[in-house]
Amino acid sequence: MIEIKDLHKSYKMGNSELHVLKGINFNIKEGELVAIMGSSGSGKSTLLNILGILDEADSGNYILDSVPIKNLNETIASRYRNKFLGFVFQSFNLINYKSALDNVAMPLYYQGIKRKERNEIAMNFLEKVGLTSHSHHLPNELSGGQKQRVAIARALASNPKVLLADEPTGALDTKTSYEVMELIQGINDEGKTILIVTHEPDIAAMCKRNVVLKDGLIIDDKLVEQVRASAYV
Ligand code: ADP
Ligand code: MG
Repeated sequence: MIEIKDLHKSYKMGNSELHVLKGINFNIKEGELVAIMGSSGSGKSTLLNILGILDEADSGNYILDSVPIKNLNETIASRYRNKFLGFVFQSFNLINYKSALDNVAMPLYYQGIKRKERNEIAMNFLEKVGLTSHSHHLPNELSGGQKQRVAIARALASNPKVLLADEPTGALDTKTSYEVMELIQGINDEGKTILIVTHEPDIAAMCKRNVVLKDGLIIDDKLVEQVRASAYV
């Protein structure tokens, strides 16, 4: 589903340059649930933004569902984002003056789906995340966990190939974090390919594979079963 090869990214600031990604290689198969880990500043969000076609690498290859992602103009980039990707963020990024239902239905509007069908699809996804009874609530009438559930429903509504989540539990308490992760596990069980950025080992342990970034390189890439087994040696 995702193939990246020798990805490099630097940020230029004045005369200095910060080399953040220094040759990243990995592949993600359909149906995987992968955590990208690493300390703050290690380049996790930079990598996720490139995978999400929100930013572009300086060099290297990125192939998403057999499509090379390179030198795209914003029109095509946005088309690919809508077609392939769903996004979940730490800060939820819901539209504050729209109901949960309207937030979930929003991406479908941009796909040209008629209102009645949009609302039906959105209700189905709200049901999936356990929020049928909250469809008319505004974001500020929802708890943090509920807001993230709405954001997950919205990300799924356009049936993306890959769900990308940047610190999806970063703003939630421990118990709520586990609940949101259980929801994400359930979505993965149904076959969705999911990539999560987190710096929390407990959250990464709820994924199937852990990739660790450090100083711009991948220093570890293991199935969680292997991580667990080595913890008991
Ligand atoms: P992480 O998500 O792992 O905390 P980031 O990818 O956000 O790390 O950032 C990696 C490094 O790149 C950090 O040192 C950060 O300050 C820097 N950085 C991130 N985005 C930009 C930007 N747009 N311009 C300049 N520097 C940036
Ligand atoms: Mg980050």
